[in-house]
Amino acid sequence: IFLPHLVASLEVEQTYIMVKPDGVQRGLVGEIISRFEKKGFKLTGLKLFQCPKELAEEHYKDLQSKPFFPKLIQYITSGPVVCMAWEGVGAVASARKLIGATNPLQAEPGTIRGDLAVQTGRNVVHGSDSPENGKREIGLWFKEGEICDWIPVQEPWLRE
Ligand code: UDP
Ligand code: MG
Repeated sequence: IFLPHLVASLEVEQTYIMVKPDGVQRGLVGEIISRFEKKGFKLTGLKLFQCPKELAEEHYKDLQSKPFFPKLIQYITSGPVVCMAWEGVGAVASARKLIGATNPLQAEPGTIRGDLAVQTGRNVVHGSDSPENGKREIGLWFKEGEICDWIPVQEPWLRE
């Protein structure tokens, strides 16, 4: 039998998206969630969370040697963040496009950073850079039981 849903599920990716403390303080949580919702991704995890220093350091461990690392850790732990897991076909690269370039002044208008931010050190949102990191980061920020699988009613209206 041909099972199109199983075939399609092969390309489904998980990405970790986070509204950073500046996004929370500036009241941009709804706006940012809305962009991923409207695109058609599936929300599978969501929480407001005060990040401990150790977790921020683990999350950004690839940037440990960078001069901006201490300031980055200070920034990410400076207030609550909104942790999200989103799922979809090609979700990792697509979310990065919706987010825009790391430097908001270089981010295209229409992207989250292009529309809502002005500085790299206050760029309001994080998105995983690969499917492997998507899984790794969701594992870091969420406990088992905090991720929900569900079938959105819009599914047949998103894909033919
Ligand atoms: N960052 C910074 N200064 C820099 C480069 C990066 O403060 O020169 C911060 C910024 O918040 C960025 C985060 O470190 O979002 C992670 O850097 P990365 O290069 O992974 O950018 P992203 O994947 O977030 O676009
Ligand atoms: Mg990155």
